[in-house]
Amino acid sequence: MKLSQNFTKTFQDAPKDEVSKNAQLLIRAGYIHKEMAGVYAYLPLGLKVFENIKAIIREEMNALGAQELQMTTLQQASNWTQTDRWTDDKVDIWFKTALKNGTELGLAWSHEEPITLMMKQHVASYKDLPAIVYQFQNKMRNETRAKSGIMRTREFVMKDMYSYSVNEANHQAFYDKSIDAYHRIFDRVGIGHLTYFTTASGGAFTQFSHEFQTICDAGEDVIYIDEQKKTAINKEVFTDEVIEQLGFSKGTVVEKKSAEVGNIFSFGGTKSEQLGLTFVDQDGSTKPVILGSYGIGVGRLMGVVAEVFSDENGIIWPESIAPYQIHLITIGGSDSAQQACQELYDDLRTKGVSVLWDDRDDVRPGKKFADADLIGMPHRVVVSKKTLEVDMYEYKKRTDKESKNISKDELLNIVAK
Ligand code: ATP
Ligand code: MG
Repeated sequence: MKLSQNFTKTFQDAPKDEVSKNAQLLIRAGYIHKEMAGVYAYLPLGLKVFENIKAIIREEMNALGAQELQMTTLQQASNWTQTDRWTDDKVDIWFKTALKNGTELGLAWSHEEPITLMMKQHVASYKDLPAIVYQFQNKMRNETRAKSGIMRTREFVMKDMYSYSVNEANHQAFYDKSIDAYHRIFDRVGIGHLTYFTTASGGAFTQFSHEFQTICDAGEDVIYIDEQKKTAINKEVFTDEVIEQLGFSKGTVVEKKSAEVGNIFSFGGTKSEQLGLTFVDQDGSTKPVILGSYGIGVGRLMGVVAEVFSDENGIIWPESIAPYQIHLITIGGSDSAQQACQELYDDLRTKGVSVLWDDRDDVRPGKKFADADLIGMPHRVVVSKKTLEVDMYEYKKRTDKESKNISKDELLNIVAK
C-alpha cells in the first residue's frame, strides 16, 4: 500500500469528546471513524487489524471442530418470549424496531435463543451430537455507558460459539478444550501474558461463568490474581466462600483493573428445556441438549491491544495482527531514493512481506516519522540519500529508541522471523 494513495489522514489531535486512549489513537491514526458515542466504523487500516484478529480466532475455532455459520440481526419476539428474555425489565439493553404492520422485532444482542431454535430442525438423536457452531455477528446493545472507545460499543462484532452436547461429561470435555483454544488466541494476538482465566458470577444456570480478563487500566472490571495458579477471581464473586472453594488465599492475590475480552459459560440443559431442543439418547429416553456459550468481542480485543501496546507517540501493533509488517519511508524527492524504495517494496511483497510505503513527496520527514510511530507498524525502514551512499537501510523496530543501518540481507532476516 502506498500512502500517497491512501485516503485516510492522520490527525495531531483526537476529537474533544473522545476520552478513551484506544479511540483517541485509533482515530488519530486513521483506523476508525467515530459515527457517534459508542458507535465506530472501521476504516481500511482498522479493518485489516480487525480481519487479522478474526483470522486467528477462526483458525482456533475450526481446530476445535466448530462450524462457521451466520445468524441474523433481526429477531422475532417469539424467539425470546419463550425464555423470558424479551421484556426490558429482563434484558435492559434491547434495541427494538418494528415491521410496517406493527410487529415488533428485536436487534440481536445475543444469539443463544435463535441458534438453539434453529438446531431443533437438525438435532433429533444422540447421533446428531455433538454440534458445535460459531459465527462473527453483529450484536446490538443499548449500553448506558459508552466511554471506552471500541472496548464498549452499542454495535459490535462478537465471535460467539455454541456447543451442543449429549451430557455434562462431554460438555465439560469440550469446555476444557475451548479454554485452551482461548488461551492460544490471546497468546497469538499478543496479550497472553496479560490475560487471566477468571472465575466470575454464573447467572441463572451455573454457579460460575469464566472470563478471560486482560490487565488494562482502561478496563471496567477488577480481578484478584493468583500468580502461582495463573488464574484470577472477579471482584463480583470475591467472597470468603469462593476464595476457599477455589483454593485462593487473600494474602497472596494481587488486585488489578482488567478488561473482559472473552466469556464462556454453561447453560446446562435449561435453555434446551425452555426451547424444546431434545434428543433421543442411546437408551431410547428423551433428554435436553446441554448448551455451552463462548464469546469474544473482536473490537474489544483490538481496543485492549491498542491500550496496552502504545506509547506517547502512538500504537505499537504486535506482528501477528499489524495491518502491514513494514513501514517504508522515502526521504528526499530524489529519483534514486524513489527507485530504491520501489525495488525494495516490490521485492518484499514478492517474498510475502506486507509493506506500507510512505512515498508521499509533499510531506516533510518529521511528519513522516511521526506518522510511522502513530500508525504503529512493527518495523520501520528509511531510504534516503544518506542510506543510499552506504548501500544500507536505516532500520528501527517500533519499540526501539534509536535506528541503525542494516543490509538488505539483515532486513530480510528480521522480517522472515
Ligand atoms: P460486559 O460485562 O463487559 O458488559 P458482557 O458480560 O455483557 O460484557 P458477554 O455477553 O459475555 O458480555 O459478551 C461476550 C464478549 O463480548 C465479552 O467478553 C466482550 O469481549 C464482548 N462485549 C460485550 N459487550 C460488549 C460491548 N458493548 N462492546 C464491545 N464488546 C463487547
Ligand atoms: Mg461477559
